[in-house]
Amino acid sequence: MTSYLIRNAQILGGPAQDIHLDGGVIQAIGTGLAVEADVDIDAHGLIVLPGLVDLHTHLREPGREDAETVLTGTQAAAKGGYTAVHAMANTFPVADTAGVVEQVWRLGQASGYCDVQPVGAVTVGLEGKQLAELGAMHDSAAGVRVFSDDGKCVDDAVIMRRALEYVKAFDGVVAQHAQEPRLTAGAQMNEGQVSGELGLGGWPAVAEEAIIARDVLLAAHVGSRLHVCHVSTAGSVEIIRWAKAKGWDVTAEVTPHHLLLTDELVRSYDPVYKVNPPLRTAEDVKALRAALADGTIDAVATDHAPHPAEDKDCEWAAAAMGMVGLETALSVVQQAMVDTGLLTWEGVADRMSHRPARIGRLTGHGRPVSVGEPANLVLFDPAYRGTVNPESFATRSRNTPYRGLDLPGRVHATFLRGTATVLAGELVEPGEPA
Ligand SMILES: [Zn+2]
Repeated sequence: MTSYLIRNAQILGGPAQDIHLDGGVIQAIGTGLAVEADVDIDAHGLIVLPGLVDLHTHLREPGREDAETVLTGTQAAAKGGYTAVHAMANTFPVADTAGVVEQVWRLGQASGYCDVQPVGAVTVGLEGKQLAELGAMHDSAAGVRVFSDDGKCVDDAVIMRRALEYVKAFDGVVAQHAQEPRLTAGAQMNEGQVSGELGLGGWPAVAEEAIIARDVLLAAHVGSRLHVCHVSTAGSVEIIRWAKAKGWDVTAEVTPHHLLLTDELVRSYDPVYKVNPPLRTAEDVKALRAALADGTIDAVATDHAPHPAEDKDCEWAAAAMGMVGLETALSVVQQAMVDTGLLTWEGVADRMSHRPARIGRLTGHGRPVSVGEPANLVLFDPAYRGTVNPESFATRSRNTPYRGLDLPGRVHATFLRGTATVLAGELVEPGEPA
């Protein structure tokens, strides 16, 4: 196994130190380390973070390999600084059995770029009618602990209650896509001034908030763990803040795009801005940033949702919902949270690695950057300035809302258990001597 000596890196933005990686582990940290390594990396000006953990990734395999595969998705993850991703269950077939989650887990093991933790569906076929084999998925080789019908809301309160009760047995969590279906029938964008002017079907904030309010009460009632996916409104933040103040076991995530973009962009009618939940208002963005800063929102999760060109290069109403996000997440968080003074790099490590790993109960990820810990690390260059060029992406899809935009920062290197998956911003072939 290749050993590395990373010289003069700023751990969590702190003073420059050297880090020695060997045998998959952080062997030593100090100034002027006198150790021999196979590869020396000059990390002057680079920040070291623990490998990022995504709670919400759509890898599309099995079934939509034209949009993404486990291999291309994990390559994109590595380029974005991720060492573990949770693969959402809305594949074809749906990941609602032990067989399908094990298939996704094995594909992840074979990719070598990033650990893949499959998410199991809550209900059979994501149909919201009958609980899926939650216990069998947990007991499988994939060891599923996070369950979600993401893409769809578990809108039946009795089914939701049963799922919350069931996962308690193995410390699982239900991750809810909060969208009241009747209030969002035919919805095309956020309901507000812009939707009124454009004449597009509105997606009211209350459709998200009503489900979150119900679910935090249900989680409290049965004493179970609830995770709220992609929180997008100021009102949702208030409900989660209240639930946490009550001491209930509720966690929440926000996407990078909801931290940066607003529904004003829909005026372009460019379907690249069509996403679920929809882009909201500047007031919502402000509330989401504040909630991530104060910890009311626990984690940034990408909701990386690749789509082939034919599903996006069409009129707004016909276009698929979703954006790719793995390769731009850290840069967007730098722009929205760090460069604005809302979050330190330590805070970024907490919201993008420590807390998501804890929510997913991943034991080998989200660890401190300390001697003896698994060498899951990112080297990030916050001074880099560049224009987003989707043609350079590793993801198979190109539906990014940041095309042509200047975003700060770049992932220089990613290490998965001491093996470089990315060096000098480029993917390293597994097994390639680096
Ligand atoms: Zn969703």
